[in-house]
Parts: sequence; structure tokens; C-alpha cells
Amino acid sequence: MFKKILIANRGEIALRIQRACREMGIKAVMVYSEADRDAKYVKLAEEAVCIGPAPSAQSYLNMPAIISAAEVTDAEAIHPGYGFLSENADFAERVEQSGFQFIGPTPESIRTMGDKVSAKQAMIRAGVPCVPGSEGELPDDPAQIRRMAKAVGYPVIIKAAGGGGGRGMRVVHTEAALINAVAMTKAEAGAAFNNPAVYMEKFLQNPRHIEIQILADKHKNAVYLGERDCSMQRRHQKILEEAPAPGINRKLIERIGDRCVAACKKIGYRGAGTFEFLYEDGEFYFIEMNTRVQVEHPVTEMVTGVDIVKTQIMVAAGEKLPFTQRQIAIRGCAIECRINAEDPYKFVPSPGRVTMWHAPGGPGVRVDSHVYTNYFVPSNYDSMVGKIIVHGDTREQAMARMRTALAETVVEGISTNIPLHRELMVDAKFMVGGTNIHYLEQWLEQHKR
Ligand code: ADP
Repeated sequence: MFKKILIANRGEIALRIQRACREMGIKAVMVYSEADRDAKYVKLAEEAVCIGPAPSAQSYLNMPAIISAAEVTDAEAIHPGYGFLSENADFAERVEQSGFQFIGPTPESIRTMGDKVSAKQAMIRAGVPCVPGSEGELPDDPAQIRRMAKAVGYPVIIKAAGGGGGRGMRVVHTEAALINAVAMTKAEAGAAFNNPAVYMEKFLQNPRHIEIQILADKHKNAVYLGERDCSMQRRHQKILEEAPAPGINRKLIERIGDRCVAACKKIGYRGAGTFEFLYEDGEFYFIEMNTRVQVEHPVTEMVTGVDIVKTQIMVAAGEKLPFTQRQIAIRGCAIECRINAEDPYKFVPSPGRVTMWHAPGGPGVRVDSHVYTNYFVPSNYDSMVGKIIVHGDTREQAMARMRTALAETVVEGISTNIPLHRELMVDAKFMVGGTNIHYLEQWLEQHKR
């Protein structure tokens, strides 16, 4: 096992990985930008290295600075967390060329799955069902594009091959709007992701977002850890996740989980990964794969008892998965609310000093957050400041526990979306379960203030 790991991230996930290292007796080296100098996980770390000023481009995305930090501290491996460089194949390659183990899949896997067009092609070859659409990148010829859209059937969605974070997508309802939409998405994709390639999918009207968590080792073993329902989204960004997905036939989940495992084996995947699907009318359609740990991994940890971050580290060190598929059981229900520093209804970011932070507790309650009273939320990064996760024997119990947890939580000095979560936890449709990806936006429209 590694003796020392460098954690190339910040915030709650940096703390989460640091905790896993502690538990495993591994020393953790933290890197931080000037804006994160006072973070508690930095102060608590055995070693910490400043890698640059606040802007991510000069710190958390600064590959040479991160690799030198690993060199000067004699770390053996680098955990990239999520976001930042976690899905950057060039980074993974440079990490390995510099003699460190990248805690994640191979650069080739990241490259294949990072391009949504090549990912879909790989999934089709592996027998995973995909959203119908263009087989590959869209051609330049407008007549050809029109023909393709007609064959797929309107509405269609134009998506950037290199897109992520809910950006680089445009829904098209009519042929008249098609060519302009393609041009605009291409221009945006070129600017935002350095890759103008776009592709087309049928725009599903009322799907749910269901994803399958997988773990694979370097010895061709792979398992899936059930599914998560991440349909509660605003602007394609998840805000609340749960496991298992309410009302979906277990046999169907098993079948799709087995396909994902087979696909992992076929592409030689290793580490943690997520296959994202849209689910509509009893069918699953693959949309993309994330080749890293995800924000919502705790709900899966709560229902399976598997520590995903520890397992990532174990398999990166070359160990075999410590369980087989038969040993994975789903117990009870888990829900996660993402706590964002933002206005709960206008969604304007609300960075600044947290004058009071009181986290909830009790049976089945887990809080993953780096925030404490007097912590300053920098304006340079994502607005998520933590996650409250609950587990219950039933979905009803999990919701009751979440209501109690949210009621106990006190955050002062900044605005958060906790009031929105409190409302959603008593929303009649959410309480029934199984709402689709448009539900939250429609709800916000109806509850405008
Ligand atoms: P990103 O990498 O930016 O997260 P995804 O491909 O995972 O992009 O899509 C994000 C979200 O966009 C999905 O969860 C879903 O809400 C919506 N979406 C993507 N593709 C489609 C589609 N074909 N039909 C309907 N909604 C879609």
C-alpha cells in the first residue's frame, strides 16, 4: 500500500480523501491555493504545499505545480478528486510519466470516455443501450444534418463531444432552428472545451437521470454498486440524489448493471466510474461516463457499506477488489442534499464569511463538509460547500431523517439553498418518488418569488 498520497483538490472532497487516507494509515499531502490557505484540512494535514494564487488556472489546474508538489514531498500517488484535473487524460499521463500512480483509470480510458462521441461508440460496441442519434460527430454539410435530425425525429439535442458540467447543450424543436443551433453549440464548444465537435441525440421528453456506480481493479474484476437517481436538477446540474432509484424494477437494474460491468472489462477500465443513463418508459439510454469519484458517491456508500474512496486507493495500489458482485447488497435508502452557497431561489452565488455553522447529527446522518464557523467561502470556486447525507431502512425514514437534519442545520453569514431542500423534502411529488429531470425547474417556475 502507498505510504503517501497527494490530494490534488480542495473543499469537501479534499477532506473526504484525507479522511480515507487517515483511516488507511497513509500520509496525505494537501495542495492549496492562496485562497484556501486557512482551510482546516490544510491546517490538519501532515504536509501541505501552496501551488499558486486563487484562480484555478494558476493553482488547481496547474499541472507542473501539482507534480512538483508530489516530487518535493515524495508522494507515491495522486488522487484528483472530482472536477479540476480529474478527467484530464494529459494530466493522468503526466502523473504516470513522472513516476507517480494516478488514482483513477488509465489515460486511454479517460480519453475515450472524455469524448462523448467516442464514449458512445465504445458503449454501443460493448452492448450498452444509447440514446438514438448521430452515430458520431456531426458533418459540416447542412443538408446532411437536416436529414439526420429528420431521421432521429424532433426534438433533438445538440451536444458538445467535449462538454461537461451541464454546459454545451442545445435543444432544437424545429428544422428552422437546427443549423443555427448547431453553429452556436459548435462555437461555444470550441471556446469552452477547446473542441468544436458536436453530435446529435433524440431529446427525451420526460426521462429520469439514473446512474450506475462501478468499481474495477487491475485484475479484470469489476462490480456495480447499484444505482443512483439524480433527476433533481437545475440547468442540468444535480442538487439532490438518492439510492436506490424509486420504483425501478430490480431485474432491469441488474441487467443494466451487468452490461456496465461487461463494458468495464471490455475496455480494461480500472478504478471508480459512473455510467450515466436517461431512463424513460422502462428503457435505459447511456449518455456518458464519468471516470472519477462523483459528488454523490456517499449515497451509494450508505446503502452498500462500501467505502468508494478507500477502494479507489486500494485498486490503484494494485490490490484486488475485496468483494465480489454477490457480496454487494443494497440496504435501505439514502438521500443527499448538496449545500450550495447561493440564494435558494435566485441562485446567485453567496461567497463570504460563515459566521455560524452548526451541522446536524444523529443516527444515519452524515455530513461531508470542510466548512466551520468563521470559514471564508472564496468566490473563485464552485458554490457547493458541503453535503448532508442520510440513510434509513425505508425511503420514508430517510426523508424524515433529512427533514430533521435540515431543521437542525444552521448556517449564518452566507445564503445557502437549505430552504429549498426543506421545501423539497415535504413536496408531495418528491415524497412519492420518481420525478423526472424537468421536475425541479417546473417546481421553481410554480414557486417563483
Ligand atoms: P454533462 O456532461 O454536461 O453533465 P450529460 O450528457 O451528462 O452532460 O447531460 C446532463 C443532463 O442533460 C442530463 O442529466 C439530462 O438532464 C440532460 N440531457 C442530456 N442529454 C439528453 C437527451 N438526449 N434528452 C434529454 N435530456 C438530456
